[in-house]
Amino acid sequence: MINAARLKERIETLGRIGRLPGGGVTRVALSMEDKEAQEVVSAWMEEAGMQVRLDHAGNLIGRLGGVHPDEAPVVIGSHIDSVVNGGKYDGVIGVLGGIEVVQHMKEENIRPLLPLEVIAFCEEEGSRFQSGLFGSRAMIGATSEQDLLLTDKQGVSRRDALALFGLEPDRIQTEAVRTKDGIRAYLEMHIEQGPVLEKMGAPVGIVTGIAGPAWIEVVVEGKAGHAGILPMEMRQDAFLGASEIALLVEQTCLSFKGSPVVGTVGHVEVKPGGSNIVPGLASFSMDIRDIDVDRRNEVIRQVKEGALRICEQRGLRVQFHERMDVPPVQCTPGIVEVMKEQAKAMHLVCPELVSGAGHDAQLMAAISDMGMIFVRCRDGISHNPEEFAETEDIKLGTELLFRVAKHYAMQQTVGMTEKTSAVGD
Ligand SMILES: [Zn+2]
Repeated sequence: MINAARLKERIETLGRIGRLPGGGVTRVALSMEDKEAQEVVSAWMEEAGMQVRLDHAGNLIGRLGGVHPDEAPVVIGSHIDSVVNGGKYDGVIGVLGGIEVVQHMKEENIRPLLPLEVIAFCEEEGSRFQSGLFGSRAMIGATSEQDLLLTDKQGVSRRDALALFGLEPDRIQTEAVRTKDGIRAYLEMHIEQGPVLEKMGAPVGIVTGIAGPAWIEVVVEGKAGHAGILPMEMRQDAFLGASEIALLVEQTCLSFKGSPVVGTVGHVEVKPGGSNIVPGLASFSMDIRDIDVDRRNEVIRQVKEGALRICEQRGLRVQFHERMDVPPVQCTPGIVEVMKEQAKAMHLVCPELVSGAGHDAQLMAAISDMGMIFVRCRDGISHNPEEFAETEDIKLGTELLFRVAKHYAMQQTVGMTEKTSAVGD
């Protein structure tokens, strides 16, 4: 059986590194706290029988060579960096669950055919250099000099922060990047960070896809004027136009009933910004996410069309600036099937759900088959000191992770059979 007590103890131990007086955790990437956490996690990886190294992008990698050490490994990953004043489960349960999977195999004398790797990716959260998923992006070859030039609040660049960890960022492209056939399967376990599993009374869920966000900045231009003098019917109030568009974002998403499409206006700026001035300019962010890129883009099209109509009626001008466009990814159907079979063998009812939040798995899907497991968390709260997941739920998720990892690690691949027979010849 998966050792739940050990898992819980390790979660608590890691939760003490970077803990704040109020109970939250601040453990940003490449900080002293991160270093301490990496040392602790490395020791656990070694205890589980793995060899540990840090790649030049700051990814901590534990590896257990299988019977065929040169074959592509089964990789289990997540992250141990946190947001500022975050919780102790986000990312952590995926890394510690991965170590538990390997340690469990060792204790059960299971020798996998394929190598197994557990990875704690560098700066998933983006809470230090404001550009997240850094380690997984580096691993698929999607980082650039720009990522290294970014500086934190103290003016320290990511390049220098990596160097302080004894790493050479110039070797990322040549040594940290993994190739398309270099990973047999990528698996990640994470707290859900939402309320769906709790609402369904299910401890564990199987992720079918990860939504892709589109970020658009909307700028509405009107005419500023004196709040006491301008008659209501003569105004070109930019904020009122922006407000109507924000409501339209909500209505449009709701009109796609039963779909997971979500739209958020989270940042608004009004200018000139005086209580006695009719706003002349209003700009706001629009975050639209869906697992279906066509439906997501249709929502954006309808909002833009409606925004033009609203602004025409109000005598305003509107501009749209695309800030980010990440395509959604589907989890590999084959892995989803294996997860379903294994959950069934555990007599575990696992709902299928999509992830609205981004994860390292989203990037790793570019170079590997990918699957994700969600674990129920209390009230859907995350990125908050109140974040909580039951040990029993994490244990069940880890057992499912173990079964799926074992399934792939014990699989004889075509190449392997050929090689074996070649040796025999
Ligand atoms: Zn996370």
